[in-house]
This record gives sequence, C-alpha cells and structure tokens, in this order.
Amino acid sequence: MRALLFSCQHYDQESFARAANDSALDLHYQPARLTLDTAALAHGFDAVCAFINDELDAQVLECLASGGTRLIALRSAGYNHVDLAAAQRLGLTVVRVPAYSPHAVAEHAVALILALNRRLHRAYNRTREGDFTLHGLTGFDLHGKTVGVVGTGQIGAAFARIMAGFGCQLLAYDPHPNPELLALGARYLELPQLLREARIISLHCPLTEHTRHLINARSLASLQPGAMLINTGRGALVDTPALIDALKSGQLGYLGLDVYEEEAQLFFEDRSDQPLQDDVLARLLTFPNVIVTAHQAFLTREALDAIATTTLDNITRWAAGNPQNLVIK
Ligand code: NAD
Repeated sequence: MRALLFSCQHYDQESFARAANDSALDLHYQPARLTLDTAALAHGFDAVCAFINDELDAQVLECLASGGTRLIALRSAGYNHVDLAAAQRLGLTVVRVPAYSPHAVAEHAVALILALNRRLHRAYNRTREGDFTLHGLTGFDLHGKTVGVVGTGQIGAAFARIMAGFGCQLLAYDPHPNPELLALGARYLELPQLLREARIISLHCPLTEHTRHLINARSLASLQPGAMLINTGRGALVDTPALIDALKSGQLGYLGLDVYEEEAQLFFEDRSDQPLQDDVLARLLTFPNVIVTAHQAFLTREALDAIATTTLDNITRWAAGNPQNLVIK
C-alpha cells in the first residue's frame, strides 16, 4: 500500500515516521500543497493523505482517480475543502481524523485571549527594547466575565471547561446543546442574544453553508463595544473586511485569529522576504489589538502523534476492507 502525504512539513514527517514504526505502509512525503498543478505527483499512489489547505475539488479528485488513487485520508477533522459529491461519483473513499486533541485547539484559543487581554505581544517587544513602562498594557480580570462559546462540540466543550475554571459566566450557542456545558452552568441562547451579551466570543463550529460569514458587519454591530472575538474554527466563519471596520471604530476591542479566509495561499509558508500581497491581512496586522497565528492551534506534540496514528490506522483498516472514520465510502 503506497500513500503520498501532501503539504508535509518536517514535524508531520517526524510524527508519521514515529507512528509508522512497524507498519507495512510505504509512505512518501511531499512538501507541496495538493492543487491541480501537483495532483499528478500522486499517480500510482493508492492513498493520498491531505491537510486542510490542500485542494480537493472535482478537477483535482478526477486527476487523482485517473492516476489510480482510491483513498483520500484527511489529516484533519474538517472536510469542508473536499468536493464529496465528486469523490462519491469517482468511487473515492474519504476518511478523516474526527478528533486528535480538542485540548490543543481550546488551549490555543485561551492563549490568544490571555495574550490579547494582558497585551503580552506588546510587553514582550517593549521589555526587549529596554522599555519597562506599563502604559497601554492595562487588562481586565477574566473572573466574572461573560464568555460566549459558538459551537459546543469537543473543542468548544474543552474551551468552556477552561473558561469556567477562570470563573467566567458561560453562554453557548449550538443547534445541539451539549449536556456537559449545561452541567458547567452554561446558558444556551440564540446566536444574536449571545453576541449581544458576551464580552468574549470564541468560534468552535464547523464551516458549512449555514455558518459562512456567521460574523459579519451586522452581527459585529450588535456586540458589546470593545468585545473580544477569537476564531480558531475556520476563516470563512467571519467576513474579514467587516472586522477591519469594527476594529477601526473600536466596536471590536480585541481580535485573535488562528484561521483566515484566504489562508490557503499564505499559511504554512515562509513569505518573510516578499511583499505581502493580501491587503486585508496586511491591514489586520497593523492593529495593536489583533493577534494572528498561522493555523497553529492544532500544533502540539500530542495532536501530531494522534493525527499520525489515526491516519495510518485509517489507511490500514481501509486496505483490510474494514474502514473506519468514513466521511464517504
Ligand atoms: P465537533 O464536531 O465536535 O463540534 C462542532 C460543534 O459545532 C457541534 O456541536 C455542532 O452541533 C456545532 N455546530 C454545527 N453547526 C453549528 C452552527 N450553525 N452554529 C453553532 N454550532 C454549530 O468539532 P470540533 O472537533 O469541536 O471542531 C470544531 C471546529 O474546529 C472544526 O470544524 C474545525 O473547523 C475547527 N478546528 C480548527 C483547528 C485549528 O487548528 N485551528 C483544529 C481542529 C479543528
């Protein structure tokens, strides 16, 4: 069984090499992103292993299928980037890693909250420059603040547990309420009410046709002035240009993004010696109350090992005719 991993960074190669220790799988590592231009590299590979910014539209899937690929093994939980109808038509099986470490993503969301609130990014630079003043660094106690959790699945629940530990009041929105949140004392509300009441809002729902631009100019106008928004879900959950207007007016007081609508062309690459061509991202990066991380919330040793172990298991089980973690058969 030959499998090709696209978008493979050195940390992926290390975790897969660890997990594949005594496996019979023939793994090949490819740093390039999967696109129509690179899909031909997979010719002759039974399985293609893809990450979140790989392109899996109908044309790419057709190219993969014509080259003999029969399995798409996603190294992610989300599958919004896969044309499932095309995969089904082409007879491709799609499997995923439904959970690897909800803690990794939840803890990163909390890291963004703490850094933004206590302005650690500014303090870090200031003390390194020999400036030991405190002006502009005033934060607020998290204790007693109202936190809105949008999407209360595995990651949202892990996030809620941490925020409950800080003594925050929890509000939640999810079409399927989670009993664990109710046990933590969370109040489930409709989304507009949650947005009006929460001081901090954290997005943990999947990207679907219903959640695209869930946060937009209208919803931003309904926030408490100076509210904090954290997005570790998917970039297109928010209308990014609308964020810039809300930051300029002060309506949005803090913004932490780990995901960005147009991240596919940028994230996971070193572009530090080139002019940034994305004017929306460039503007966002000028605000002192914005922190952008490049889709790193998942990046813990535990999560990488779990992704590698489950993916290899998914491929092995599929090869043995006993597939698991199917998105489509
Ligand atoms: P999950 O399936 O356990 O939970 C998702 C929750 O969202 C479910 O409870 C579901 O009912 C809810 N939901 C569905 N539609 C909704 C809507 N319209 N409004 C509000 N809630 C809705 O998934 P998870 O493991 O908690 O992951 C959540 C998301 O986090 C993933 O879909 C993915 O996009 C994102 N994610 C990001 C990273 C990262 O590194 N930044 C890593 C993993 C996952």
